[in-house]
Amino acid sequence: MTGLICCTLECNLACTYCYEGNGLKKEMPSIASVNKQFADAMEEMILFIDELYEYNDGLLTEIIWHGGEPLLINIDLLEKIMKDQRIKKHKIKWAIQTNGTLLNEKVCKVFKEYKVSVGISIDGLKAHHDKFRVMKNGRGTYDLILSNIEKARKMGITCGALVTITDNNVMDLSDIYHSFAEKGLNFSFNALFPTAKNAEEASLDVKDYSKAICNLFDLWVDDVRNNIKISPFEQIIEGLLKPWRGIPACHWAKNCSNSFVAIDHTGSLYPCEHWVGSREYCFGNIREGLRNALKNNTYFAKRTDYLKDNECMACSIFPLCYGGCPWNGMILTGNHMKKDSSICEGRKEIITHIYQRMQQNLKDSPFGSLSFEEYINEKMAAFNTIEEG
Ligand code: SF4
Ligand code: SF4
Repeated sequence: MTGLICCTLECNLACTYCYEGNGLKKEMPSIASVNKQFADAMEEMILFIDELYEYNDGLLTEIIWHGGEPLLINIDLLEKIMKDQRIKKHKIKWAIQTNGTLLNEKVCKVFKEYKVSVGISIDGLKAHHDKFRVMKNGRGTYDLILSNIEKARKMGITCGALVTITDNNVMDLSDIYHSFAEKGLNFSFNALFPTAKNAEEASLDVKDYSKAICNLFDLWVDDVRNNIKISPFEQIIEGLLKPWRGIPACHWAKNCSNSFVAIDHTGSLYPCEHWVGSREYCFGNIREGLRNALKNNTYFAKRTDYLKDNECMACSIFPLCYGGCPWNGMILTGNHMKKDSSICEGRKEIITHIYQRMQQNLKDSPFGSLSFEEYINEKMAAFNTIEEG
C-alpha cells in the first residue's frame, strides 16, 4: 500500500482548473501557519509511515509528499521526518508531487540524499501552461519550472512531468511529446473532463481526447530515436500482458483503497489525497492505529460488484477498467458508487488501439490472432479457474 502525505491543502499558485480549489484563492497562504500545522503533526506523520511499513510486511513502501503544494513546508521539516531513526531503518521509496516553483538548491540537496523522485505538473507547451498554471498575480510559471527542473536534474534528481490534458492542449500532444522527448523528460498524463463544478474551465471532448491519445501512442511506439517513458502507456501494456493482475494504476484498480491511504496534517486518514477534508470519507485517525483504522476504509468495497451488475454490465473492458476512479464518479454524479462515465468511450478506444498495435508490432505477440475481447475473456477465465481450483 502506498502512503500519501497531504502536507497542506494550500498552494502558492492559482491554476484556474485546480481540483483543490486553490485557483479561487488569490491570496498567498500564510506560510508560517501552514508550517506550524505541519510541525504540530510530525509525530503523527512518523507514526503513519512506521505503521504503514509494518502493514506492508516490511516490503519497500512508497511515500508520496502531496498537497496542495507540499513544498510550502520547510524542507527542514520534511527532512526531519525522512531522517527520523524510526523511519530511516525502513525501506522507503520517497516521491513528491509538486508544482515545481519552489524546487530550489537546498530542497534538491535533501531530495538527493533521500532519493526523492519528483513529479511536476507541466501542461506541455509554454503558451498553454502559462495560460493556466499561474502565480497568484497571474504570471506564468513555465520558465521558472523548466529552469528548476534543469537544475534539479543536474544535481541528480529524478524528475518527471504530469500533464493535464484539456480542450486547450489536446490538439498539441504531438508537439508536447516532442518537447518532452527533446528534454529527455518522462511524463504521465490525466484528463480534465467537464463536471458540474468546472464546466466553464473544462470542455474536453472524449472523442478528441481518445483520438489524440491513440496518436500519441503511435508516435511514442514508432519513435526509435528518443527513449522517454509515458507511464500510462507502460501501465496499460503491463495490464494487457497480465490482465489477471490488472493495470497497475489507481484509476484502473478493482478497489483502489486496497492500494492507497492518505493522511492529513491532523492525523486523519482518507482513501486518497482527493478525499482529504471531506469528513464523511475520513475513516479514522492514525492515533487509533493504522491497521485498526483501515478496517473502516470500506467505502469502495462493494463498488466493483455493484457496477458489474449495473452500469458496467456487459462492458467488454470491465475486467480491466472496473468502473474507473470513485472520485471521478463522485464529482460527476455526487455518488462514488457510480462509474466514471467520462472515460467509457475513450478507454475502450484507447485500450483496443494499444492492443491492436501490439498485436501488429510484436513478432511473437502473446495475443495471437484473438480479438481484444476474446483475449481478455480467455485470460480471465483461465485465471478464475485456477482461483476457484
Ligand atoms: S469503460 Fe465505462 S462502462 Fe466500461 S467498465 Fe469502464 S466505466 Fe464501466
Ligand atoms: S479515488 Fe481515484 S484518484 Fe483516489 S486512489 Fe482511487 S482511483 Fe486513485
